Formats: sequence, structure tokens, C-alpha cells
Amino acid sequence: MAETISNISLAGVTKRYGDVTALDGVSLVLEGNEYVSLLGPSGSGKTSLLRAIAGFEKPDSGRVTVFGRDVTHLAPHKRGIGFVFQNFALFPHLTVYDNVAFGLANADTPPAADEIRRRVTDMVRLVGLAGLEDRGVGQISGGQRQRVALARTLVTEPRLILLDEPLGALDANLRMRMRDELRHIRERLGVTFLHVTGSETEALAMGDRVVVLDHGRVAQFAAPDVILNSPANPNVARFLNRYNVMAGALRGEAFTTTYGDLPYGKRVESSDAAYGIRYDRISVLDEAAPAKGVGIPVTFVTSEYLGSAVMFFFEAADGHLFEVEHHLGKGRMPEYRPRARYQLQWRPEDAIVFG
Ligand code: ADP
Ligand code: MG
Repeated sequence: MAETISNISLAGVTKRYGDVTALDGVSLVLEGNEYVSLLGPSGSGKTSLLRAIAGFEKPDSGRVTVFGRDVTHLAPHKRGIGFVFQNFALFPHLTVYDNVAFGLANADTPPAADEIRRRVTDMVRLVGLAGLEDRGVGQISGGQRQRVALARTLVTEPRLILLDEPLGALDANLRMRMRDELRHIRERLGVTFLHVTGSETEALAMGDRVVVLDHGRVAQFAAPDVILNSPANPNVARFLNRYNVMAGALRGEAFTTTYGDLPYGKRVESSDAAYGIRYDRISVLDEAAPAKGVGIPVTFVTSEYLGSAVMFFFEAADGHLFEVEHHLGKGRMPEYRPRARYQLQWRPEDAIVFG
């Protein structure tokens, strides 16, 4: 985990607020020019981590090194780091152009006027706001304001940009568009993004790598497909919102649950025992169908339409709710009768056990 001139490194960063340990010995190395998503439940320390990197909070212990420079004790504005937050405050009385230009014009050593003009004009174009330069920020949409906030940060040319749920306030359509745009903008500028998102879909779709935080610790830091296919522990599987996670005990070739001994494919070593099967790897059969390795009797509860997929909810005898995902591209939409009995099956090789 050595820090170098081309990366951002956290070494054993701990931050406490009274009795609460918000960050518990976090060590991480982000490469230059990568998109890192930061995922974790509310209260897991995501904002604290960004604030420690930005310098708004001083860690109780540990070091932060940004592109070869130890910034642990440096003031925020001297770190060369940009931030975009959900509740960004633009200057309401200034135009789009002047909001974007503000940081440059008010820098310790501002660039020459024509240099400012060139950079602001380029940046306004890059974020898709060309033509709106003279509008007041009260005369543009929420999505456009979010772009102004982004442009205002990017124009100062930080090599590391911290984003704390910047898309949280946008409606679903716009959010989707902004996701693509953020990725493209980042690729064009070649900077590093550390992006906190409360949405696992967003984290997996946007990140080159994903950091999963749990109780102030890094539970996993890996590429999205690795996290999705091999979550490091049951909590990570739960946060992904893609796995049915069952309690039980690992006993050799099977995992003992209230539904009997279930066979599995992959084992992930973990101090926390659980059995996981993805929502999209489950077949729904007639209750009388012959069980093949796994066959859990359930009753159908309800469904939820998600646009590209439908989630079906089934309840087992012990009250556990199973989620089954059906992609709308996968043929005709099944119909289940409320409170009718079915059987859930899956291939053992699709199941993971932790233990
Ligand atoms: P997240 O962004 O993942 O929701 P935070 O980093 O905001 O999590 O918070 C992590 C933990 O630290 C939580 O338990 C939170 O209540 C606590 N915390 C954060 N900021 C403060 C603060 N300024 N004073 C006291 N406790 C705080
Ligand atoms: Mg937060």
C-alpha cells in the first residue's frame, strides 16, 4: 500500500466523534485517473472519509497522502482537491458563467483574464451548458445547477474530486443521464473521482472500482464484477441489494438453514456465517415440482415493477422474505397468484456460502 506520486493513499485513518468511531483504521490506495465509487449504509462513515481526505476533519490518527504529498495537516484549500456535494450552494445572484469563474477569479494567484475566459468557456461546454452562460442560476433547472456545481469544481483543475451523493437530489431520468455524463467528463479530464452514492446500482455502474464501507471499516475494495460475484462477507452481500441472505451454519458440503441443508457452489471465508443466492438466479416452480438440491416452499406476496425488471416477493414458512428478479428482456412476464404456494429453486453452483 505504498504511496507514490501518482496515487492517493490513506494509511490507518481513524476518526472518532465522542463515543462514535466514524472511521476505524481505514487504509486505501486510489490510483490516478480512476473512478472509485464509495458505497455503504447510512452512518458507515462515507462522508467522514471524504471530509478527512478533504481536510474538513482532522483524523485522530493515520495519514492522508495525495499525489506524493502528505496533506494530513494541510488546510483544505491547499490540498488541490475538488468537492461536489449534494447540497451545493451556488451564488444565487451570479450568472452561470460567474459561478463557474468564481474559484479561478478568486484564487490566491488568479490566472490572466483571457486564460480564465478560455477555461470557463471550455468547462461550460464540457458539462453541456453552452448558451446558458448569462442566465442567473435561479433561471435554470436542478440538473443544470448540478452541472454548474460540477463545472465550478472542475475548472480549478484538481486531480482528485470528491463527490458526496451529488445526484441524490435529481429525479430518476436526469440521474441516469448525469451518470453517463460524469463518467465521460471524468474520462476526458483524466482525474480521479471518489464518488459516494447511496445507490448500489449507481456504485456498480459508475465505478472502475468500488469501496464498500461498513461501520467505518473497508469491507471490500474491488472491481464491480468482483464485488457482485464474490462479496467479501454477508454484510457486503446485503448492501448490494442483489442477494437473498440466509442465516445458518456451515457444515462441510452443505449449509444448514431452517429450510434444511442447502448445497452451495462457492465458499467465501468469513467470520460471519450466511448463505447467499442472487435475486436473478432463482426459478419459481409449482409447489409440487420435484426439488433438485434446493427447493424452498413459499407463498407469493407481491411484486414491484422497476422499469427494466420486476421484483417478486415470496415468503417462507419462517417469515423470511425472498426476492426474485425477472428481467423484462427475458421473455414473458410471469404471473403469480397472491398467497398461492410455489417453490423456489436454484442451482447449487450459483449459491455462495460465507463461513
Ligand atoms: P455516512 O456518510 O456513511 O452516512 P457519516 O460519515 O456521516 O456516515 O457518519 C459516520 C458516523 O459518525 C455516524 O454514526 C454519524 O452519526 C457520526 N458522525 C458524523 N459526523 C458527526 C459529527 N459531526 N458529530 C458527531 N457524530 C458524527
Ligand atoms: Mg453521508
